Amino acid sequence: MKFKTEGASMPILQSQFVWRSLELNKLLCSKLTLRACAALPRRLDRVWSHSIVHACKMSTRPENLDLFVKNSDTAKVKILKQKMEPLGINLDDSYLPGKYQNLYCPKCKGGQSVERSLSFHIIPDGTLAMWRCFRTACGWAGQAFADDREFHLRVGENVKSYRQMTEKSLGLEPLGPELIAYFNDRLISEKTLKRNAVMQMSGNQTIIAFTYKQNGVLVGCKYRTMEKRFWQEKGTDKTLYGIDDISDAAEIIIVEGEIDKLSLEEAGLQNCVSVPGGAPGKVSSKELPPIEKDTAYPYIWKCREYLDKAACIILATDNDPPGQALAAELTRRLGRERCCQVHWPKKDALNSFKDANEVLKYLGPAALKSIIENAKLH
Ligand SMILES: [Zn+2]
Repeated sequence: MKFKTEGASMPILQSQFVWRSLELNKLLCSKLTLRACAALPRRLDRVWSHSIVHACKMSTRPENLDLFVKNSDTAKVKILKQKMEPLGINLDDSYLPGKYQNLYCPKCKGGQSVERSLSFHIIPDGTLAMWRCFRTACGWAGQAFADDREFHLRVGENVKSYRQMTEKSLGLEPLGPELIAYFNDRLISEKTLKRNAVMQMSGNQTIIAFTYKQNGVLVGCKYRTMEKRFWQEKGTDKTLYGIDDISDAAEIIIVEGEIDKLSLEEAGLQNCVSVPGGAPGKVSSKELPPIEKDTAYPYIWKCREYLDKAACIILATDNDPPGQALAAELTRRLGRERCCQVHWPKKDALNSFKDANEVLKYLGPAALKSIIENAKLH
């Protein structure tokens, strides 16, 4: 049964909202002060203050709760769940709209006490999801709609809005012959390019678009020109490239660039991700910062759920000082006991090979595979 008019549905919606708010009542009243409420962006403010005000008045479960849950549009809820995953908010299948759930915050991971500080809610009709981290040090909050309206995210004092991006909205198109030839020259096949959804900027045969997907949803895009100039699509967080390929892997390989990830695929190794870019100049001499302040490696923490499953992590970064520093920094964060590093073989009397793609080009896929696999023995 669908509600005939919006007006008719509102009283039930509000009471439902209120009842569910009670679960959070204590938390809300103790931790979200009116002052904090006033600091929220207007749209978020309206929703949260609505729940707080009504949560304090209501004390019984509305009789029509079950009716409500039944009537929510499950397709919309599914869309919202999919939109949440790239943000790091993972809801289990039993989650029903109308419920408040306390989850681990993907931004601060619940701080030192590792508390479930993120309060998450999808309104009963399944059209809007909203969340807020109650740790004052974090305060991450946001809203997302089941249709293609903008997201609203709040981190600290900054409010970001962005649209659910698509290949079309970014103006991407399939690779043209020029870039296919460029990749073929690096021994990357069309099959591999296609599986990894490598595209080009529309109308420009010289700008490669590496699409970053999570659960098959486009979450970011990195562009690369022929002259090795890089930039990232605005308003997207950095994450690991190819993350869906390690979702169930007990052994994973981390490389330093998208082309190296594609090179490993040519060698038959798909359980590989690339860092989103930027190797440090040198290994930091300081102690590891807390997660929320680890600004150089946010992608490690964002993807921790994936990385935690791996018993063995092979680091196949570039054979230069930044590449070696990157491997050392990753090892510090992922744990020495499960990390091992690839040492690229000698190219000639003076030099070693630079990276996975160079090995693929000069020694071939079988040699590349065996070098990677041998890393475990050292
Ligand atoms: Zn948080």
